[in-house]
Amino acid sequence: MAFESSTLPITDFQIGDGAQRNSTLICVPIMAESVEEMLVKMRKAKELGGDLVEIRVDFLKNFIPKQDLDILIKQAPLPTLVTFRPRWEGGRYDGDESKRQEALRLAMELGANYIDIELKVAHDFFSSLPRDRPENVKIIVSSHNYESTPSVEELGDLVARIQATGADIVKIATTALDIIDNARLFQVLVHSQVPMIGLVMGERGLMSRILAAKFGGFLTFGTLEEGVISAPGQPTVKELLDLYNMRHIGPDTKVHGVIGNPIDHSKSPHLYNAAFKSTGFNGIYLPLLVDNVSNFITTYSSPDFAGYSYTIPHKEAGLKCCDEVDPIAESIGAISCMIRRPTDGKLFGYNIDYLGAIAAIEEGLRATSGATPASGSPLAGQIFVVIGAGGAGKAIAYGGYEKGARVVVANRTYDKAKELASKVGGQAITLSELNEFHPEEGMILVNTTSVGMKPKIDETPVSKEALKHYSLVFDAVCTPKLTRLLREAQESGATIVYGAEMFINQAFVQFEMFTGLPAPKRLIRDVLARNT
Ligand code: NAP
Repeated sequence: MAFESSTLPITDFQIGDGAQRNSTLICVPIMAESVEEMLVKMRKAKELGGDLVEIRVDFLKNFIPKQDLDILIKQAPLPTLVTFRPRWEGGRYDGDESKRQEALRLAMELGANYIDIELKVAHDFFSSLPRDRPENVKIIVSSHNYESTPSVEELGDLVARIQATGADIVKIATTALDIIDNARLFQVLVHSQVPMIGLVMGERGLMSRILAAKFGGFLTFGTLEEGVISAPGQPTVKELLDLYNMRHIGPDTKVHGVIGNPIDHSKSPHLYNAAFKSTGFNGIYLPLLVDNVSNFITTYSSPDFAGYSYTIPHKEAGLKCCDEVDPIAESIGAISCMIRRPTDGKLFGYNIDYLGAIAAIEEGLRATSGATPASGSPLAGQIFVVIGAGGAGKAIAYGGYEKGARVVVANRTYDKAKELASKVGGQAITLSELNEFHPEEGMILVNTTSVGMKPKIDETPVSKEALKHYSLVFDAVCTPKLTRLLREAQESGATIVYGAEMFINQAFVQFEMFTGLPAPKRLIRDVLARNT
């Protein structure tokens, strides 16, 4: 099933900077055992930028409906949604059903803006309402599936059943077993004739909570604090507003992300979302927890799903999903970036990891020689020794070869060094030969092994004695920043280039591929410095 987006009307709201925002509200679930604590949390929800609060009265200890609801609704600093979730729908209340519904009717009388009633009892609840029920309160009829996400047809039937109860707003929350499950709910959301909340719970459902703003969801939930959630997978209000720029997302927003597994610690969403915002590019960048790359790519086939970064373990699988692959990625057998061509939707794969390292090394060489980019690559004709023949080693060796360097590969497993060297027209040596290797002075050395990486910071792949023959040393290891190899290279008089420069430089390249705009380099450096 291929998911296609469609254009949605959005209400004209102004954001602080004068731009228009989408109409999707940020609702902050308020869970506490006392009314006082709830009031404190509601004030915090307002400070953080939430639009309304969901008062989860099933969390209150010793709930006295009339007294507590009166205080909570009247003193709330934001519009209120009152929810009294029973255990049989995933909540905490396990008392008498008639008392529960009575409390919800009371909330309506006391001026709640919204109340939530579960589909299973919605008919009973609506028939219990007086004819002259308060007009201003909207009734959300909800259905929660904590096991899976049904088919589009089943979801469509569910929407119809909820609508038939007389609901003002339809709410469907399902569970993602795979990231492709979100697409089914998006499809229902964009076609819904009534206001709808459509969210997919769980780690693999995160995109539904952010893209609710693209597909016209009535609201999405944002928590006050990380981990203090009312349903699995909820982001914080701060993340929705500051990390994902949710107010700026609209029907035309282009979706990007980093495809990996695991993916929750990726810094890339911080970097690209900040860069998109600063340049006014209408895009969003998500962490995409993908189990099967091919299923993901065929499901999200709309032109709006515009580009991805690839990380462990999906770089090889990503390559197989491309319509065309650049020759270096083809030789390496892995991609790090995929772009959808807007004109025909074709997917192009690139391996740009090496571009970042090569650009950083060239910059280092030019800084010492005073040469300009106009005079060609300073790597041309140089001896370029690459330690390691894994993913990073292959990419950087190809990069050096492409720039006209004379590549030498040194690797623990010599056969792999020989295989790589033969592909880049170079020479293979063993790690022990490396210590004696100095056919000429002023060579360039690149470490692409994990030797020297935290916690084994006392290790180094080559003796200090050998380093005096090199004019520049680059270490792909990022932690620590100054590895033993770089420290000893510096002491031996070589120019050093940090591993972080590889990541930063490939981010510049990738940003330009995603947007067609020049990368905001200063901002990208600042964001990375703040998030590492
Ligand atoms: P990989 O594919 O697993 O390759 C690892 C390489 O390191 C292989 O050549 C392996 O040799 C060698 N190696 C591992 N342990 C060794 C040891 N104890 N002694 C000698 N050689 C050893 O990994 P990768 O993806 O290329 O990543 C390698 C390093 O680059 C990691 O530290 C990673 O963090 C870093 N990296 C940095 C960036 C960046 O942006 N700065 C980007 C990508 C990678 P064998 O062939 O003998 O196993």
